[in-house]
Amino acid sequence: MQNGWRVGSIFNIPLYIDPTWFLIVGWITLRDGMEFQRAWGAPIAYSAGLAMALLLFASVLLHELGHSLVAKSQGINVNSITLFLFGGVATIESESKTPGKMFQVAIAGPLVSLSLALIAGAIVFFAPITNPVLGVLLLRIATLNLVLTIFNLVPGLPLDGGQVLKAAMWKRTGSYIKGTLIAARSGRFLGYGIAALGLADIFGISQQFGIPTIGGLWAVLIGSFMVRNADRYTQVANLQQILLDLKAQDVMSRDFRVLDGNWNLREFADHAIVALDEPSAYFAAHDGRYRGRVDLNQVQQIERSQWETQTLSAIARPLSNIPSVTETTALAQVINQLEQQSDRAITVLSPAGAVAGMIDRSDIIRVVAGKLGFSLSDEALQQIKSSGQYPPGLQLASIAQAAQEM
Ligand SMILES: [Zn+2]
Repeated sequence: MQNGWRVGSIFNIPLYIDPTWFLIVGWITLRDGMEFQRAWGAPIAYSAGLAMALLLFASVLLHELGHSLVAKSQGINVNSITLFLFGGVATIESESKTPGKMFQVAIAGPLVSLSLALIAGAIVFFAPITNPVLGVLLLRIATLNLVLTIFNLVPGLPLDGGQVLKAAMWKRTGSYIKGTLIAARSGRFLGYGIAALGLADIFGISQQFGIPTIGGLWAVLIGSFMVRNADRYTQVANLQQILLDLKAQDVMSRDFRVLDGNWNLREFADHAIVALDEPSAYFAAHDGRYRGRVDLNQVQQIERSQWETQTLSAIARPLSNIPSVTETTALAQVINQLEQQSDRAITVLSPAGAVAGMIDRSDIIRVVAGKLGFSLSDEALQQIKSSGQYPPGLQLASIAQAAQEM
């Protein structure tokens, strides 16, 4: 999440404020101002309300910094911290490499909030505070941080408690993906539960049955936010499983042509220029053996005077020198290797060292989309093939990287 305005940076982490955050600031300023007004008069009351809103801002920011600094200590980049309607979110570039480290990042935020609650509470109870406004603010900020701690520890994704559950289930099952799926299912269930409590509150059922109320509309909003995000975790985890299960041979196409290695470069150029559908790659072979890969760009850099005398076999780049994977390489790794090379397609080699196929991004999208139950038009696939780009918004490369690393 990186919407909103950049308002500065802290520990080299860019800080953003989403417009929805101002709804919270306005709401707290008004709510607390109105409440304090009778005791203190409007100017002090609304100033105190605004101070309360800014203290909430600081509390949420420190909570997110807790996550961020622990992540940084593990060598993980933190792209941004954004404050928005439901609090804050630190956009951490990748996940921790072990369940233990993941637990540390997850628990750091709630620990900061709990510490703030204890510190503010201790000041209220043990320091001689004579100013009533200050006393009320401190007590409120203590309560608020305690609520932040407890709410964030609800054990379902996307909350911190969900990350803790994910780390625990990862450790227990030995599978990062299983851990994610369990914690996401829990987040979905709890999100629906919170939304249902909110609805019960709105329709007055809570009072009837003596169920504790947690602020009707607010609970519905937070509950549905949780469900949406939990489902996103589920989708990504399912996609990661697909990328690990599929192998290069499930995705590759026969989009290559094998030419006689005895051809000279002129013959090749003539052939390649008039070819109606240009394949992803040309290979040269003779005497039943692959001599390597040839491409037109490479030939065009050779002096024309040599075109009649040089053969394809002589200039071919040996298969051992070109980017390649084997038929059984997991698709996640294929995707990562494609990201690291400039060619749009990667060669798939058989165990015998022969060319088995080629994979480009359109091959990957076609098969992955099929696994997910939808299909793309030929034009869309052609567009992906010729641009060498995945459809915008689909972060396949980073999802594949996470899948391979875990
Ligand atoms: Zn947190």
